Amino acid sequence: MSKGKIGVTTENIFPVIKKFLYSDHEIFLREIVANAVDATQKLKALASSGDFKGEYGDLTIDISVDPVANTLTIKDHGIGMTEDEVKKDINQIAFSSAGEFLEKYKDQTNLIGHFGLGFYSTFMVSKKVEIDTLSWQPDFEAVKWECDGTPEYKMSKGTRTERGTTVTLYLDDDLKEFSDKNRISGLLGKYCRFMPVPIRFGKVQEWKDNKMVDTDKDNIINNVNPLWMRKPTELKDDDYLNFYHDLFPAAEDPLFWIHLNVDYPFHLTGILYFPKIKDRVDILRNKIQLYCNQMYVTDQVENIVPEFLTLLHGVIDSPDIPLNVSRSYLQGDQNVKKISTYITKKVADRLEDIANNQKDEYEKKWDNLKIFIEYGMLTDEKFCERAMKFALFKNSEGKYFKYDDYRKAIEAAQTNKDKKVVYLYCSDAVEQYQQVETAKDKGYDVLVFDTQLDAHFVNLLETKIADSSFIRVDSDVIDKLIAKDDIAKPEMDEEKKKTLNAVMQTILPKDAKFTVDVENLGEKSAPIVLTQSEFMRRYRDMSSLGGGMNFMGDMPASYNIVINAENPVMAAVLGDEAKIAPDNKQLCQCIDLALLANNMLKGKALADFIKRSEELMK
Ligand code: ADP
Repeated sequence: MSKGKIGVTTENIFPVIKKFLYSDHEIFLREIVANAVDATQKLKALASSGDFKGEYGDLTIDISVDPVANTLTIKDHGIGMTEDEVKKDINQIAFSSAGEFLEKYKDQTNLIGHFGLGFYSTFMVSKKVEIDTLSWQPDFEAVKWECDGTPEYKMSKGTRTERGTTVTLYLDDDLKEFSDKNRISGLLGKYCRFMPVPIRFGKVQEWKDNKMVDTDKDNIINNVNPLWMRKPTELKDDDYLNFYHDLFPAAEDPLFWIHLNVDYPFHLTGILYFPKIKDRVDILRNKIQLYCNQMYVTDQVENIVPEFLTLLHGVIDSPDIPLNVSRSYLQGDQNVKKISTYITKKVADRLEDIANNQKDEYEKKWDNLKIFIEYGMLTDEKFCERAMKFALFKNSEGKYFKYDDYRKAIEAAQTNKDKKVVYLYCSDAVEQYQQVETAKDKGYDVLVFDTQLDAHFVNLLETKIADSSFIRVDSDVIDKLIAKDDIAKPEMDEEKKKTLNAVMQTILPKDAKFTVDVENLGEKSAPIVLTQSEFMRRYRDMSSLGGGMNFMGDMPASYNIVINAENPVMAAVLGDEAKIAPDNKQLCQCIDLALLANNMLKGKALADFIKRSEELMK
């Protein structure tokens, strides 16, 4: 037996380790299993270089817990360590690197994955750690190393008779959770699920005689050859779908996926899935897991992939992402920038490919894909440029068009006095039914922009599509929306106009502003049409969305009331000065109908309208 002091500068590193990453104590398990995996991989490397001859035997790593003794044991059949190696690798290197690590990052709690803490992270959860190890090299004896959480350690003769290392953690008295089978099972699922060496955690259990009992089948908790490491040409759709449901058991089938695989100028593999997104963007984040050579790192990838891509689900594996740095550092890292650009490009390539080669499929899934793509276009310039070629418009009849195709179609149909091409849209095909139908009757197509993002999105489109203007169908009377020529105004003297305006204002609701106008809209059109200017509405939408555009302060909604002088009812009212009066039933009724068509007739006004309607029928 020999004793020694661990070569470290600060005497009090253990308390620091215990406190450090307080909320993330559980990562010790990944660190310790990763070491066992490394030792096993090293053995394989020695075998392929010819240094290690002879049989591997079973390389499976065993994890076991003893809840009574409150211990956790990790046993591998890797290269093991000689006495000198234990002294060097555990006492000096491991400890000083843990020391350096802590020294450097003491104050940063958001280190990505906390990689690099290594072996000594076991002291976050243990009062004593024991290593029993036998080197692969012939003529060495097993050694045992013990350390009770002070910088002092003991070394003695080990008991291992087979090559490899056994690490036993004597857990802190208040950390019984880490000798609990279910807890460790959960952690192995999170951190070790795709590690490249088989890991066994006891036996598979089954329900028998009213309790869970061990079967004789090994409980292998990991998949050493995960899908993303395999060749895409070997894989079928079902493989991708099954893998997705393995990762996210509660999710619906994804829409599409991309298998990433690049060797130069950095290494990256992975599979990204497009989930079905409806409106709830928020709940879908943090569904990309980052791995480093099949070792789980984190599911917080915000600084590695562009923001909009965090809506995707799946796995990225890259040894080229620096893992023991803070998240904010990552943003500036050149490799990470390249990776981020690469992923964006791949996503765009894939979408363009599907849009061109699986048109029906793509259109069918567009409604679910739309938020993702529009969000990407709004937040990522490069993606936007690419997406202009594969994003789709949907019209009120449920047909889909690529931007360029749509432009050609409506340009041909519009003979405009100014150069702008008008894209008519509705935000709610039910609420704006009447206006949509009117537009269609006049031969105009109407697009549907019905998500929360769309208020921002139409702004973006106007800057991206040359000479375009996006106008909601209810923002003016249709003939003025797409102005062919100036429409001749009905003749009316100024005095009469003033009276009309004054009378209208007394009848109209007081909580909004109305401007009154008289136009010739045709005999068949409604007597009075209510519109809200595109600008005003967008402004209000944006400020309610928190677009930070509140430069006009809070102001009441404002609308335009257009009186159709050619409608027979209105013609009769306008033709008889006595009828332009606040108590004129026809005038009141026509105003209410216009309000009603816009869902703006409420409360007493609605009750009055119903009563008046009944009277008029008598
Ligand atoms: P890292 O793994 O990052 O090198 P660690 O502190 O985890 O740092 O481990 C220090 C060293 O101890 C390892 O590099 C390795 O040489 C040795 N080691 C740790 N665990 C094992 C093991 N299970 N088998 C063989 N060697 C090990």
